[in-house]
Amino acid sequence: MTLNPVETPCETAIDLATFETNARRFLDAHLQPAATSTSVWGVGDDTMSPYAKRTPAQELERIERARAWKQTEFDAGFGWITGPLELGGAALTPDHARLYSEIQNAYDVPPTDIYAISLGMVAPAILQHGKRGVVDRYVEAMHRGDLIGCQLFSEPGAGSDVASLTTKATCDRDDWIISGQKVWTSGAHHADVGLLLARSNTDAPKHRGITAFAIPMSLPGIEVRPLTMMTGGTEFNEVFFDDVRLHDSFRLGPIDGGWGVAISVLMNERALGTGDAFGLGRAVERLRMTTAVQPSNARNPLVRQQLARIVCAAECIRYQALAADGRRTAGLPPGPAESVFKLANTHALRLVAELAGQMLGAAAIADTGEWGTYAWADLILTVPGLRVAGGTDEVMRNILAERVLGLPKEPSSVR
Ligand SMILES: Cc1cc2nc3c(=O)[nH]c(=O)nc-3n(C[C@H](O)[C@H](O)[C@H](O)COP(=O)(O)OP(=O)(O)OC[C@H]3O[C@@H](n4cnc5c(N)ncnc54)[C@H](O)[C@@H]3O)c2cc1C
Repeated sequence: MTLNPVETPCETAIDLATFETNARRFLDAHLQPAATSTSVWGVGDDTMSPYAKRTPAQELERIERARAWKQTEFDAGFGWITGPLELGGAALTPDHARLYSEIQNAYDVPPTDIYAISLGMVAPAILQHGKRGVVDRYVEAMHRGDLIGCQLFSEPGAGSDVASLTTKATCDRDDWIISGQKVWTSGAHHADVGLLLARSNTDAPKHRGITAFAIPMSLPGIEVRPLTMMTGGTEFNEVFFDDVRLHDSFRLGPIDGGWGVAISVLMNERALGTGDAFGLGRAVERLRMTTAVQPSNARNPLVRQQLARIVCAAECIRYQALAADGRRTAGLPPGPAESVFKLANTHALRLVAELAGQMLGAAAIADTGEWGTYAWADLILTVPGLRVAGGTDEVMRNILAERVLGLPKEPSSVR
């Protein structure tokens, strides 16, 4: 049996007003108001990017802070608001979840980006496609922040066309033997479980010969090698599988039916953009502040015009996201139209980074120690990666053109 929060009855004894009072009481008791670090120039940490360069000790400290917060939130009943009771969720409605996240915006929440893929893609896939034992082993612990998941899809020869993957899963009685290589795996160096796609049938057409698994990252034969990004951060990795033995109970979905699992994961990945997973809201706020503290820029009509354009784009995305939330509340799963959020978010972030670079000039590339200036360098260097991660701009445009607007498919030479 699998449990799906969408199918969980959402009738609840807690009305929204009582829930709001409880949420505010909880947040007041554990967090500071956001103004102390996000909306006052010169106050708090000025880091702009989750991919900023950090020492291993700083990275661990950041994860421990995120983990402690997740655990506190989960134990108080706010960690998985729409999740089923039997897995530690609160079995409340998406309206409760949305309200909580709106209230939370006013607080200084520790950065929890290490859980974005884990909770946005890996846990939902295990919940939807996993056998009971795997669901019990991972899903609640992931939502509590005890365990972290990573997405093992891309390979050196399979990115946009992920169905071309060659990592092999060979059946050996009740086990599978996994061998091959993945790449660009975000957070794999901290992950406890990976969501793996592997080729289980080389005779079938490429989309029909893939099987999905939840794979414990501590298994013998798995090697994770961090890769350094343009920012100097080491957020993603190469992952090597050398004849790794995995029991069939870790399989997600049917044998050779992994493409169906992949599609559900990719839809959830694209839907991440309906929240503020890309940090656009915070970046626009910092851009406003950066403009305001520099009188020459604040008065410059070209800067003002571009800032207005960006603020309008961010607001359009916010309203579209509310509409998408409404569709989800009505029980509709995320579809190809959600690709527009990824594209729109990264497009707006590119405009933000360009304007910040134009305004700051040398101060964005040479560290003078001045708060909120060189910090932009990390975001400027992060945006190109965001335009590639989770599907490139071109691929998003293809999806929108073909599957939403119904334009003719691009010519393909593959079967
Ligand atoms: C920061 C970051 C984090 C990532 N994290 C993960 C992760 O956690 N797990 C994971 O599995 N992967 C991850 N990835 C990999 C990511 O999903 C791939 O990089 C992406 O899908 C593109 O694949 P590729 O790099 O092989 O480029 P390619 O697919 O080789 O594309 C090269 C170029 O060709 C263009 N192109 C390709 N196909 C078409 C087409 N049909 N039409 C028009 N243009 C096309 C692309 O737009 C691109 O400009 C991450 C990548 C980044 C940058």
